Amino acid sequence: MAPHAGPRTRTSLRLVCPEEVVLRRSAAGSRPRGRYDDLADRRLAAILAAEDTAQEHGLSPHTRTTCYVHRCWVHQCVSDPLHVIVVTGHRWCRRCECPVDVDVDESAPGSIRLSCDRCGEPDSAANREVLSSCRTSLAAMRGGDAPTLYSVPGP
Ligand SMILES: [Zn+2]
Ligand SMILES: [Zn+2]
Repeated sequence: MAPHAGPRTRTSLRLVCPEEVVLRRSAAGSRPRGRYDDLADRRLAAILAAEDTAQEHGLSPHTRTTCYVHRCWVHQCVSDPLHVIVVTGHRWCRRCECPVDVDVDESAPGSIRLSCDRCGEPDSAANREVLSSCRTSLAAMRGGDAPTLYSVPGP
């Protein structure tokens, strides 16, 4: 396995050609941050950037409605293994020592449910935080009845 992994990884790391790098750099020059410039959903991009800044100033990463790594609403990627944080107990059942599943239903009115295969509902402060951030994320994505979290500048 290892001999194949080396060259493949190298190829996949070469993401952009030099011309693209130059273009990206000049585009980034007009804005303070360019990490989300290519996202089609500009409202999501604005909230991502706002939460990145807020996090630098003390916002807990666990209360964010967007994901810095996956660049989407947090309820959309919370099922990714990366969101199981054993140390803090987020998406982790301490009682059973196993990851917690998240059921996300985006269709109206929308619901988020945490479940543990072994004990049912894993109730802890950390998992309540996961639940709360996902619910806020779902509401923020819709931008409907819930109040807007941030004022988003127009295009
Ligand atoms: Zn994520
Ligand atoms: Zn459990």
